[in-house]
Amino acid sequence: MTDVDWTKALCLGCERELWFVEGNDSTANADRRAAKQTCLICPIRSGCLDSAMAEESGRGESGRYGIRGALSGKQRYALSQRLPGAQPKQQRAA
Ligand code: SF4
Repeated sequence: MTDVDWTKALCLGCERELWFVEGNDSTANADRRAAKQTCLICPIRSGCLDSAMAEESGRGESGRYGIRGALSGKQRYALSQRLPGAQPKQQRAA
C-alpha cells in the first residue's frame, strides 16, 4: 500500500463529527454532504480511500464507520462487492 501523508488531510482541524453523522434528517444530510465535498478536494483522497478499503476488508456494511475518501460506509461496502475476489454479500440480521 502506498504511504499516505496524513498531515495533508483536509479533515484535520475540521469538526470530526461531520464525518460521523448519524440520522437522515436534513441537517444530518447537509453535514454529510459538506464532509464529502471536503473529501472531494482533499489531496490524499485516493490514499485515504485505499486505506479504508484495506482496513475494512472482509467487513460487512455495518462494520464500516464514517465517511472516508468521500464515500460512506455503505458506499464503501458496495464498492467492496464490485472488487475482484469480493466475498458474498452478508445477510442482514433479522
Ligand atoms: S479524503 Fe476525506 S476523510 Fe480522507 S483524509 Fe481527506 S478529508 Fe479526511
